[in-house]
Amino acid sequence: MQTDEQSLQGELIVQDRVAVIYERSETAASDRKIIHIDMDAFFASVEQRDNPEYRGKPLIVGGQPHSRGVVAACSYEARVFGIHSAMPSSQAYRQCPQAIFVSPRFDAYRDASRLIQSIFQRYTDKVEPLSLDEAYLDVTDRARTEQRFAGSAQRIANEIRQVIFDELNLTASAGVSYNKFLAKLASDRNKPNGICVIKPGEAEALLALLPVRKFHGVGQATERKMNKLGIATGQDLKKWPQHELVDAFGKQGLYYFNIVRGIDHRSVNNNRERKSIGAERTFQNDLQNTHEMLAALELICDTLIERMKAKNAYAKTLTLKLRYANFEVVTRSISPNGGLSDKQSITRLLPALLTKTEAGERAVRLLGLSVAHLQLDVSSAAARGADNASVVEPAHDNSDGSIEIQAVNVFYTSQLKLL
Ligand SMILES: [Mg+2]
Repeated sequence: MQTDEQSLQGELIVQDRVAVIYERSETAASDRKIIHIDMDAFFASVEQRDNPEYRGKPLIVGGQPHSRGVVAACSYEARVFGIHSAMPSSQAYRQCPQAIFVSPRFDAYRDASRLIQSIFQRYTDKVEPLSLDEAYLDVTDRARTEQRFAGSAQRIANEIRQVIFDELNLTASAGVSYNKFLAKLASDRNKPNGICVIKPGEAEALLALLPVRKFHGVGQATERKMNKLGIATGQDLKKWPQHELVDAFGKQGLYYFNIVRGIDHRSVNNNRERKSIGAERTFQNDLQNTHEMLAALELICDTLIERMKAKNAYAKTLTLKLRYANFEVVTRSISPNGGLSDKQSITRLLPALLTKTEAGERAVRLLGLSVAHLQLDVSSAAARGADNASVVEPAHDNSDGSIEIQAVNVFYTSQLKLL
């Protein structure tokens, strides 16, 4: 029988070893120069740019005030009233009846986005767009090789912000650091039209004070779970040994263990192919009940499976897309243990995904299914059969074997296509 003291020692030893490993790898990793650019109130800023009468006023892009739509974006003048994206437009109206409500013009946002992306390309080809208005840039080489930047990613970031402003008349904020996690954290700190640099020596102190919700990747559910475990800030999180975080949060636990120490080795991924296959259907008449929806999804699933077979692919993540009668789109994703290979492995997940939406309470005009994180199926036997889970690496599996439902964002369709 192990005493408490012994197990405590075991823990300390494990922690020591981890600390040494990370110290070493971090030296190399902190040489990188990563910029995260995030446009300020993007859709709303494009509207204010194109419509002078909207400038200086609370502006809401999204659903009309008396519809069931939501706020897709709002100007900083509207944020003063506590309005934020994904809030129901009706609530936004209650909080700020004098606000101007306009429908999104996605073509305009896409045009602006394309120009912004082309500006990024002038500085590096290592650009990873996250959405229409956000991207990571790895400028390590550019900072080093071009004399006028004198090794400073901050100079590059400021020049990019200036060029965006000169060419598009829109403001952007930038975060500069030695990894993606910190760069993204930084871009949010001096918004709007600001820049923030987090240097290798500063990260840990800054993270210690940060509420866990501010850590990229910690959503509402995880925040709640962490708070229950007594983890409210980075400082609390840092007290947890790696294996206990993994016990509590599965694979994500390792991610939390690392980021609270300012460690994030993910590279800026510029060849982010759209590795997904999907099928969707718009209905002549809106579907009202979940029985109809499940039946429709079965048919969509048949098409999806055909397409997957044509590509000889397995997938890890299934996404249900649903457009309500008012055109608002929601997606719900799931990454089950064992992956997705045949019809049954997909259809068994559909009821659970559907209950995570307001389907049934709200009418639905479109349903779609897509699979992502594809892997080529090298075994032809596996391609035919259902029992092939072993070739697919499990993703996001919780330690208790349950599957985690992710993604609660509200997107508009056209935005979704670019994500
Ligand atoms: Mg933005």
